[in-house]
Amino acid sequence: MKAESHSICSHTIDLNLLHIYEAKKRISPLVRHTPLVKSNPLSSLFNHDVFLKLEFLQDPGAFKVRGATNKILSLSPTERKRGVVTFSTGNHGLCTCWVAKKTDTPAVVCVSKRVAKLSPKRIEFMRALGAEVVVSGDTQDEAGEMAKELVTSRGLTLIHPFDDPFVIAGQGTIGLELLEDEPSISSVLVPLSGGGLISGIALAMKSASPRSPSIKVIGVSIENAPVMYESIKAGHPIEMKEVDSIAESLLGGIGLDNRYTFEMVRDLVDGIVLVSEEEIENALSFTLENHHWLLEGAGVAGIAALLSNKASGTGKTAIILSGSNCEARSLLKQLQI
Ligand SMILES: *Cc1c(COP(=O)(O)O)cnc(C)c1O
Repeated sequence: MKAESHSICSHTIDLNLLHIYEAKKRISPLVRHTPLVKSNPLSSLFNHDVFLKLEFLQDPGAFKVRGATNKILSLSPTERKRGVVTFSTGNHGLCTCWVAKKTDTPAVVCVSKRVAKLSPKRIEFMRALGAEVVVSGDTQDEAGEMAKELVTSRGLTLIHPFDDPFVIAGQGTIGLELLEDEPSISSVLVPLSGGGLISGIALAMKSASPRSPSIKVIGVSIENAPVMYESIKAGHPIEMKEVDSIAESLLGGIGLDNRYTFEMVRDLVDGIVLVSEEEIENALSFTLENHHWLLEGAGVAGIAALLSNKASGTGKTAIILSGSNCEARSLLKQLQI
């Protein structure tokens, strides 16, 4: 089988199934092949098999460890020695610091003032992992500008949270695991913000299996930050005002200079649905009450889409539970539990 013949993205991107298989091999020392478990409550509620992919069981609590590991382990020894920099609303920064520590790579994280205020424990945790945390700007985009400045002034390598072929290929390894564990899956619900996660999964699933084109890959974004959804509608990347959400890992833009994920989502993803704050809250409570897992808002976006009948997911459906990093007490208070 020639990898080229399975390359779906004909345009900008020299990214194909082979890169995702390479990523799988590269990241295996640090990244868990997470369980895919059948949800009995959801399966009986919807009368078809619903599987949950437990990405929150990665050591740093989210799938982003896959992309960060693939990127950092692809750098040259000189690049590794100089160090890496990233900007993040949380999980990407956390996962990058975690991988950097495991691989003896110096790491700098740029976060916005908003995130620094909202998640002091995460900042503490990143510092405890040995990273240098730089607080700069009001939005994620402004924190991103700072990171780019450090690339120039200190020769650091930017580890982008989503718009990087190595990061996308790393996240795509989830798609390979899904096909390995449950080859007859017919749809996948994926939380969607910058689009690295869904781009990788869609590329993997649609090119690795002979039944591929019929596997539906559906993105779930929040009504409070439907940036990819509105960008696809507009035909080009757009910017939107930043607001708060209980699913804070789904906030942030896709970048006006987006190079990869906009086109990949446009060309490979079968649909995007939007869920409300209340629907995310319901999904958090449902998951806690029925599975006894306290996840973060973004982590249950797929469950929210299913419970609100916005994504029907006919046939065998897999839902990516992407992360669990949250301040547990304040989340429980917010849910009035
Ligand atoms: C980053 C993140 C997402 C969204 O991933 P993108 O690649 O930005 O679309 C979803 N869930 C969690 C928990 C995340 O940290």
